[in-house]
Amino acid sequence: MVDKNRKIIYTITSIFIGMFALLILYIVYFTAIKQKQISVHPYNTRLNTLEQEVIRGDIYDANMKILATTANNKREYPKGSLYAHAVGYSQRGKTGVEALANTELLYPDYNLVSLFKNAFANEKFEGRDIVLTLDDRYQAAVAKAMKGKKGGVIVIEPATGKIKAMYGSPGFDPNNINQDWESLTQDTKNSPLLNRTTNGLYPPGSIFKIITALAYISENKGENLDFMYECTGKITGDDYSIQCYNKTAHGHLDLMGAFYKSCNTYFVKLGETISVKSLKNTAEKLGFNHPLYFDMDYARSKFQLVETESPFEKAATFIGQGKTLTTPLHMAMIASCIANDGVMMKPYLLDYSMNKKGSVKVKYLPQYKEAIMEEETAKVLQDMMTGVVSEGTAAKLKRENIIVGGKTGTAQNETSEDHSWFMGFAKYKNEDKNKLAFAVIVENGGKGAKALDVTDKILSVYEEIKP
Ligand SMILES: [Zn+2]
Repeated sequence: MVDKNRKIIYTITSIFIGMFALLILYIVYFTAIKQKQISVHPYNTRLNTLEQEVIRGDIYDANMKILATTANNKREYPKGSLYAHAVGYSQRGKTGVEALANTELLYPDYNLVSLFKNAFANEKFEGRDIVLTLDDRYQAAVAKAMKGKKGGVIVIEPATGKIKAMYGSPGFDPNNINQDWESLTQDTKNSPLLNRTTNGLYPPGSIFKIITALAYISENKGENLDFMYECTGKITGDDYSIQCYNKTAHGHLDLMGAFYKSCNTYFVKLGETISVKSLKNTAEKLGFNHPLYFDMDYARSKFQLVETESPFEKAATFIGQGKTLTTPLHMAMIASCIANDGVMMKPYLLDYSMNKKGSVKVKYLPQYKEAIMEEETAKVLQDMMTGVVSEGTAAKLKRENIIVGGKTGTAQNETSEDHSWFMGFAKYKNEDKNKLAFAVIVENGGKGAKALDVTDKILSVYEEIKP
C-alpha cells in the first residue's frame, strides 16, 4: 500500500517535473531565439515571421481613444487619415509610431497560460499596447483647420516635451495603404506620404528673426539692446533691394518695435552688426546643421551662410530667406525651449506601454539635453514674442484669459504664393505651468496669414481643456 502510494506520488511528481522542464526549455528557447527576432530593424520585412506569432498591440491617444488595432490579422486605423503620419502604417515598411514602437507592439506578453497556449494550441501571443502623448482634441482641431491646405502643424508641451498634435497635410488613409500604394508614391505633386511636420524642409522667412535677434542679444550680453534704425520701407545694398511687407515705412524702431512689426530693413541692418560666425553659432546651438534630440525620422535644418557670401545673400539670411531651411518640428522645439525658459525638452510621442490587463510595462519619461539659452535671455524673447500678439503682426490671436506669444513669417517661394508660418507659445494668465508651444506652416498660405487661423484653433482647444 505504502509502496503503491509512493509510486503514484513518484509518477505525478515526474509528470510535473517533466512538464516544468518542457516549459523551462520553451522559455529558454523563447527568450534566446524568438525574442531576438523582435528587435529586428523596423523596416525589415522579414520581421513578419514574428508577426505570425504575436498579435500586434493597439495604439491609443492620451485619452485612450483607439488609433490603431488588429482584428482578424488586419491592421485597422479607426481614425482614417487623421494620424496617417504620426501613427503611420505597418505594411509597406513601417512609419511613425508603428516604426518607433515596433518592438513593444510585438513584444509578447508571455505568462504560464499564454506560453502553454502558444506551445500546445498554437495560439498567438498578445503584443503590448501603446499609449501616446498625442491628444485627439488638438489633433482633430488642427486637421479641421488644415482641411484643403498643404502644410504641417506640431503642438508640444514645453515643460515635458510631450507632443500633443502632429499633423501633416495632405495625408492618406493608412487602412488602404496597400491598394493606394502606387498612386501615393507616384503623387510627387502632393507627396501625401511625406510627414511635413518632421521632414518638410521650408525657408523659415520672418520667424528666423527670432534667431537673428537671439544672436544680437547673445553678442551684446549685459549691454543695452539699443540698436535703432529708421525704416523707410526699403533698403538698398550693393547688389540688392529689400522691402518691408507691403512697402510699409515702419519709421523709428528699436529691437522690440522692429520685432513686433517684423520690419525687414531693421533686421537687415541689425544682422550687419553681428558676425556671420556668431549668427551661425546661435543657429547651430538651436539645432541647425546638427542632429535634433528626437527619436523619429526627420530632416535636418540647414544654415549655410558663410562670410564670403554676397551682401544680398547675407541680408536675405538675416530675414529668413536665402538658403536656410527648417522643419515645423524644429521650429516648435525652439518655441518650446523659449517658453520653457531656455531648456529644450526632447519631444516625444510614446507615453507608456501596457499589457492587455492594463499593467504598465515601460513608462517613457521627459528628457532634456541641456539649457540652450540662459533663462534671462529666454524671458527677453518671451516678451518680444508676446508683443507680436499684443501689438504686432499677430494681433488677431489676442485672447482674454491666456497670454500668447509668437512670431509670424511669410516665406517667399519663387514658384508660387508665399508660405505662411507661425511659431509660438501660450500660457494661462498668472500661471507658469501648463504652457503650450506650437509651429504651423501653411504652404502658399500667403497674404491671408493662414497660419494664424490654424493657430487660433489650437488656442481654442487650449482654453477649452484648461487643466
Ligand atoms: Zn520696416
